[in-house]
Amino acid sequence: MKKFEQLYIDGHWVNSHSDAQLEVINPANGELYASVPSADVQDVDNAIRAASKAFSSWSEQPANFRAAIINEIADGMQARIDELTEVIVASMGCPLSLASEIQVQGAIDALRSFAPLASEMDKQQVHANHIVVTEAVGVCVLINPWNYPLSQLVGKLGPALAAGCTVVVKPAEQTPLQDLILAEIIHQSSLPHGVFNLLTGVGSQIGEALCSHALVDMVSFTGSTLAGVKVAQAAAPTVKRVCQELGGKSPYIIAQGADLAAAVRYGVEDVMLNSGQTCCALTRMLVPAEQLAEVEEIAKYAAAEWQLGDPMLAATNMGPLSSRQQQQRVLSYIEKGIEEGAKLLCGGTQLPEALRKGAYVMPTIFSDVRNDMIIAQEEIFGPVLCIIPYQNIQQAIELANETPFGLSSAVFAANQTAAINIASKLRAGQCYIQGALFNTDSPFGGYKQSGNGREWGLEGLKEYTETKAMLINAAD
Ligand code: NAD
Repeated sequence: MKKFEQLYIDGHWVNSHSDAQLEVINPANGELYASVPSADVQDVDNAIRAASKAFSSWSEQPANFRAAIINEIADGMQARIDELTEVIVASMGCPLSLASEIQVQGAIDALRSFAPLASEMDKQQVHANHIVVTEAVGVCVLINPWNYPLSQLVGKLGPALAAGCTVVVKPAEQTPLQDLILAEIIHQSSLPHGVFNLLTGVGSQIGEALCSHALVDMVSFTGSTLAGVKVAQAAAPTVKRVCQELGGKSPYIIAQGADLAAAVRYGVEDVMLNSGQTCCALTRMLVPAEQLAEVEEIAKYAAAEWQLGDPMLAATNMGPLSSRQQQQRVLSYIEKGIEEGAKLLCGGTQLPEALRKGAYVMPTIFSDVRNDMIIAQEEIFGPVLCIIPYQNIQQAIELANETPFGLSSAVFAANQTAAINIASKLRAGQCYIQGALFNTDSPFGGYKQSGNGREWGLEGLKEYTETKAMLINAAD
């Protein structure tokens, strides 16, 4: 068993004020994999004070110095890619190849992409009577969930460092280990003390202290809508910036004239990836009613390609869910879908004997789903796809927008122009056209209850900045 004993504050490994420990359970077999300290509010205060003390000198460093350190940290991650992959597989059940390629290599590449953006901070707009400059927002608290733990950390840490912010990081209870390894990498790097601080701990215990602290300028939160609301409430009295990346129930419109086989396969793959634990997963597939039977056949074949099993095996492309609790939550939604009268095409609540010791859920597809059913309205966060028939494209657009969420969406039509025309009517922060793939250059974030603010790329950097106008006295 791995045992991490300390928190990382002000450039040092330090004991927590609390004796409490958090256990990391391997969801593939239910065994204890690691333990880490559970920080308390005194640790929170120490970490925030360290970040505050480090801010002014770090934010004044030249952009090329900050860029070089981002690349140095990325190099350190590259050298420890196998370890980073192993802890993600063991703590949240992601299959080895996916963890290595998307969760870790993808995160390293994404971190590097922020290095050149540091120089954006030097740009000025010079006007006749004023100059506009961009400055770092200050001390940032970065709170993350467990589904893409390293990518989500990098999506916040990269722009924060590029902008010149200092940070206090809090990973999810289930997946703290890649953050601890990153702290070890940072400890060996040239990053000045206090710029990066790491607290492992329980969100419901230390979240309020983190988000309400007067020395914190911004909270960037990714997680459930419920916790995101609590974060905003805790931050409100001190008027901090709050960036929220929350839940989703994203629609995918397949229009008449689309290449049906390609379109349906793309949708099934998108939902099943990472055992359905992707906030922007396209979980509502809207299809022309007259093509429903054909869609169902293609979807069943596509689902059969997902090989559920031990995430360490090369043949596995779908591991367990991240925990027993998550498994039970997803199974209860599947039961609700059956009760509500949706047609179960494949999957369901039964599991082969060999998989019962882990938090597994079969790839599950419901068809003939109505958009007002619970399974079409609430985020399930598991490998469950809802196929919803529509009569005409206007109705498809209305159904797509009938949701409290607005994180992502997708359209597959006869051609790109037709798809973009439909996409322009969807109320969501992203729209994937004709089978496009996620990329970290594009801004990512939600409309409506899916959040506030954007991550990734230049828009992601801007979240960590303030704008200052210097007004010039023309008579001088
Ligand atoms: P969660 O909200 O329970 O936990 C996320 C993080 O918030 C954890 O680090 C947790 O410790 C912390 N937290 C919990 N209560 C807190 C509080 N009161 N104050 C401060 N921090 C607190 O979510 P989860 O179950 O771990 O993650 C799944 C959810 O996250 C899903 O709803 C999913 O859609 C969402 N998610 C969204 C995105 C996105 O980018 N929009 C990405 C991944 C996950």
